[in-house]
Amino acid sequence: MENIDKEHIWHPYASVLNPRSTFKVESADGVYLKLEDGTSLIDGMSSWWSVIHGYNNETINTAINEQTSKMSHVMFGGLTHEPAIELTKKLLNILDDELKYVFYSDSGSVAIEIAMKMALQYFYKEGQNRKNRFLTVKRGYHGDTFGAMSVCDPVTGMHSIFSEFMAKNYFVSEPKSKFDGDFDKSELDEVTKLLEEKNEEIAAIIIEPIVQGAGGMRIYHKDYLVGLRELCDKFDVLLIFDEIATGFGRTGKLFAYEHTGIIPDILTIGKALTGGYMTMAATITTQKVAEGIEKDGNILMHGPTFMGNPLACKVASTSIDLLFKNNWEENVLRIEKYLKENLSICEELDDVKEVRVIGAIGVVELYKNVDMEIATKEFIKRGVWIRPFMKLIYIMPPYISTEDELQKIIDAIYGTIKVLNK
Ligand SMILES: *Cc1c(COP(=O)(O)O)cnc(C)c1O
Repeated sequence: MENIDKEHIWHPYASVLNPRSTFKVESADGVYLKLEDGTSLIDGMSSWWSVIHGYNNETINTAINEQTSKMSHVMFGGLTHEPAIELTKKLLNILDDELKYVFYSDSGSVAIEIAMKMALQYFYKEGQNRKNRFLTVKRGYHGDTFGAMSVCDPVTGMHSIFSEFMAKNYFVSEPKSKFDGDFDKSELDEVTKLLEEKNEEIAAIIIEPIVQGAGGMRIYHKDYLVGLRELCDKFDVLLIFDEIATGFGRTGKLFAYEHTGIIPDILTIGKALTGGYMTMAATITTQKVAEGIEKDGNILMHGPTFMGNPLACKVASTSIDLLFKNNWEENVLRIEKYLKENLSICEELDDVKEVRVIGAIGVVELYKNVDMEIATKEFIKRGVWIRPFMKLIYIMPPYISTEDELQKIIDAIYGTIKVLNK
């Protein structure tokens, strides 16, 4: 039974028959993962964007214990509870006033499916689906369920495997103007032309605002999104912002749409919603969209078993409180400044194409794909946990990370690239 993990358990995007090494975590505290053999690693990934306050947070632990003794779960059909009401109040408080109807679900991918259903139902008229395709940009990532996959980058999203089964959507080039640079208006030509030709088929544009996450860790100009908003209004197309990665302060604003001055018709959040403690996501929309969905007496057709799970709601409320109590903005801007000043040292290495930083996100793009076995070993040797992807070594540390911890991460990246270079 010693090799149960190696012999029987699938890990994300990994072989179950020829598994790579995994590392057994015994516990986690603050920014540290503690492995079974006693090794302590600084988590540079916040467990995939989620653990913004660090691990084993006393305030969240207490909230969980209190909530479990009241109720961990109760169905949401016909019932409601204080944790859902409290969380919704907090979300409405931190979101734009226009975003006001909240649908809770259990994971980011499901929140995307729901956003897509909302858009399709908005344009549904008794007996006819007026618009039933989506438009998106290349290099995006929106999750692994079929609807979500159909709007992920066609190459890294491996559309070829499922092409016969999957919905066919429209793709335009990824936004290219840099966040801090000038905006090249011609970037909007492709999407403008497509909308002129196909707007009668297209229900919504879906995009990760400002930062494209898992599909390339790309940081782009806000005016691309301002342009999309104008085009959506002109061609009667909804705009969906996927903030599952960028939400809750990660880019230096509480939500990335705040960089733009515009708001989407539908917003998805997840990952850091519960501070990385539980699985939970939400899809939030406006009066206009809710009314559109419910015209002709229709209702939104979705209802997960664990919808509005009280324990997850309680944890999410506590996490939002902690953001403010711990001055998230000050911390994220502190991390941004430190990364901008110090991660850039990697640019002096021949193998490095570019270093990019926004908020508490740092990206080192190499010319070649990273050898994962070697990189992981080197990172662990240097006391950090970082999981590269293709040509990207990227970090999004917990907001509590100190300068010393950030420096250790930067040293580990620099040292590992030098080893990979050999
Ligand atoms: C992670 C992610 C998702 C999918 O969320 P899951 O909880 O993994 O299903 C969707 N969109 C973005 C932008 C993400 O980063």
